[in-house]
Amino acid sequence: MAPEFYNPLLILISPFIGSFLGVVILRLPLGERLVTGRSKCPECSHILAFWYMIPLISYVLWRGKCAYCAKRIPAFYPLMEIAALLAVLWAALVTTGMVFVISCLLGWALLTLAVIDWRNFILPDAITLPLIVGGLGMIALLNPDRLVLHLVGMVVAAVILGGLSYLYGLIRQREGLGQGDVKLFAAAGAWVGIDGLGTILIISTLLALLATFSLGVIEKKSPDRFQKIPFGSYLSVGLWLTWLYGPLSLL
Ligand SMILES: [Zn+2]
Repeated sequence: MAPEFYNPLLILISPFIGSFLGVVILRLPLGERLVTGRSKCPECSHILAFWYMIPLISYVLWRGKCAYCAKRIPAFYPLMEIAALLAVLWAALVTTGMVFVISCLLGWALLTLAVIDWRNFILPDAITLPLIVGGLGMIALLNPDRLVLHLVGMVVAAVILGGLSYLYGLIRQREGLGQGDVKLFAAAGAWVGIDGLGTILIISTLLALLATFSLGVIEKKSPDRFQKIPFGSYLSVGLWLTWLYGPLSLL
């Protein structure tokens, strides 16, 4: 079976995956079960028939309202379906075959982490730890010659951010970088190897500064020294870009 066979299939199922990722994003930080029988309307708890659950299409057909109680369904759900689809389309532009399949899985995981960190300021172990194993498994499968570089990347990443987090805690007496950020950066090392870490740090730090500054301008308040920053969201973007396009050639 040619690996290219997966292309249309993955694009087709991605909005359904996006639906599920939306559930994960809402429930995982609260410690709620991910699979709880049949899907219900978030407003009236009416069990939804299959034809009300087709991603995007149902939302458009029923104009974003529940077919039973007519209450508005939060735009979060269709937005997640679109985001999961966009991740796959983006991967399809840059990769093919087995790398495309793996890119879809990575894209969905990073999308989930980025949105959870943005909303809750946490990066659940349930996603970051499998991502570390996944990165090492990926390189062992696709390019075993580089396995050592990725193992070293994982360790160096954990030491760099772990060390920074420890120092920051000592000096400021508060947590600046969470343990979740350390694990996600270790996963990044496992995915792109030691040679990609610099690029990821540069992209995510620039994004974090830019986003914090722009949000400050939009909300018309000066950046707060103690403002919480969802650094994991920016790390996710940095890892995604470096995975797809490789490290910056200057580094
Ligand atoms: Zn309803």
